[in-house]
Amino acid sequence: MEETKKVESQYEMINLLQGVNLFSHEDYISFYKKSLEAKSKVMGLMGGATRIYAKLENDTAINIENERRFNQEIKSRYKEEFGLDSGFFKLCNILSNSKDVVGNKHSSGKKITKVINQTPELGEKVVLLYSQVKNSFIIPDSYLVVSVEPYDFVMMGKGQGWHTCYQPMGEHYSGGYSLALDKFTFLTYIITQNPNKMGDTEIPLGKIYRRLAVFNKTYDGMMMSTQYPYKNSGMEEFTTNFLEQLFFSSLGEEIVYKHDKHIKTYKTSLSQIYNDFTLASSMKRENLYVGVDREEDLLKYGNPFKCLHCGGHIALNDMPICSDCEYEIYGDDWSDIM
Ligand SMILES: [Zn+2]
Repeated sequence: MEETKKVESQYEMINLLQGVNLFSHEDYISFYKKSLEAKSKVMGLMGGATRIYAKLENDTAINIENERRFNQEIKSRYKEEFGLDSGFFKLCNILSNSKDVVGNKHSSGKKITKVINQTPELGEKVVLLYSQVKNSFIIPDSYLVVSVEPYDFVMMGKGQGWHTCYQPMGEHYSGGYSLALDKFTFLTYIITQNPNKMGDTEIPLGKIYRRLAVFNKTYDGMMMSTQYPYKNSGMEEFTTNFLEQLFFSSLGEEIVYKHDKHIKTYKTSLSQIYNDFTLASSMKRENLYVGVDREEDLLKYGNPFKCLHCGGHIALNDMPICSDCEYEIYGDDWSDIM
């Protein structure tokens, strides 16, 4: 019963975010079941759960995240109160030359508040703003989520204050469905609230960070993709250590972490995913192999995903339905113009 209710509210949220009804509740249930079937091996390694939570206990991760949020917060508060004037750029300059923004340490050795106070465009009013932001700052109650929940794949492009081409009706929206249907891909993401205090449909939407991972065929190694929407080495360390314990500790073998171009990750042909293992700019690529050491390997991910509505044709990239069904739903919008 509870499962039925969960899937029903997921379906409602999907329709809300799509802004249009593209497939029926029954179509979603059938997709949901197929996805769980495909992930049965990974779910087995997760003790039968679709999501596993771990409280983030890593000072580096929390500190890096705090610095990032503090920077964002003080800049937006400044803009709100004083506008985008010359002082704003002075403030940005001071912040980027700071070793520890939350800890009030400027790279010159002075306190950040002192540097702000001595800058004519800024002065006491901005020192006050700095203290207000600092006082309101609380270390987030953050959790790592490891997930094969089908709904989380559908929502993989949408986070707290950011989105990617996988978001509902985004350029590669169908990519999430495609990943939900392969046997190897799972998601890792970080939320800043206790998941027990959140509604099921809200959990993936509250993520501040996401990284996907693909198992190899023998499930003794995995490739981690690019970190979104930014790189956080503390979160990376916490995530990879947790995954090593969760998936590989029972193997009794030495586990390596390496960037190696001989371990390749391909998308299955016709799959609607955006292959961020090979297509992301080389500067941003952070492919990391974690698992039993091997000289080379070939990993494949994503499944060619068929229209959720008719099940006949391959779905479009930006919609989980085919072009025929799109026509059926939207009709010929050109007819009025022709
Ligand atoms: Zn169709």
